[in-house]
Amino acid sequence: MSFSAKQIERYSRQIILKKVGVIGQRKLLNSKVLVVGAGGLGSPIAMYLAASGIGTIGIVDNDRVEISNIQRQILFNSNDIKKNKSIVAANKLKQINPSLNIINFKKKIDKENIDKIAKNFDVLADGSDNFKTRFLINDYCLKNRKILVVGAISKFDGHIYTFNFNDIDNSPCLRCFIPRMPANDRNDCEHDGVIGTLAGIVGSIQANEVVKEILKIGLTLCGYILIIDALKLTFRKVKLNKNPRCRCNVKNY
Ligand SMILES: [Zn+2]
Repeated sequence: MSFSAKQIERYSRQIILKKVGVIGQRKLLNSKVLVVGAGGLGSPIAMYLAASGIGTIGIVDNDRVEISNIQRQILFNSNDIKKNKSIVAANKLKQINPSLNIINFKKKIDKENIDKIAKNFDVLADGSDNFKTRFLINDYCLKNRKILVVGAISKFDGHIYTFNFNDIDNSPCLRCFIPRMPANDRNDCEHDGVIGTLAGIVGSIQANEVVKEILKIGLTLCGYILIIDALKLTFRKVKLNKNPRCRCNVKNY
């Protein structure tokens, strides 16, 4: 695939980077990333991935835009209220970068449909807001050896993890340190509140990790959790070890 003059101009600030270059930009254009949830995290993730030139972006969400979303879900504006999020999101992403292949899934991802939705994607960026979905995506990516970048936000606190299941011997999974679903699996933002800007911080870091994983540059977050305290403005990177009793050690899981 050769670049058009317009593409070179569009991506010039990335192509000029030694660690990206034409080859890296081509890798981004050839990559396929699924964003789960068009919410607070999904908004910056999808917008930055589209702007960066991720060639195929899937976006899954079955919800409609509510006025209480707009404080942090920057894909949407006040005219989008009551519209389906995945459809509005796909239109916005097309406006950012019309040449991309944007696929919207007007669905809630579940055990029955996850394979159909996710099978053609190499990397999943999880912006969901509950553990049931996080576990489902973890288990699916583990089984299918995909790369997964997870983000979670509540109040002023943010968490980010990367699992590279292509490198299963060295990657822990979500169940290594949260073996069972927490009894109280509720939508944290709805019940505990969240500062809107934190969605931008965590979602942008997730998008950055997705790009780095695709380009294979820099230090990966795989094997660590990044814990952000937006009040104290501290970023702590804590090592996550593989739990030998976890299912991710089972050969051919
Ligand atoms: Zn594990």
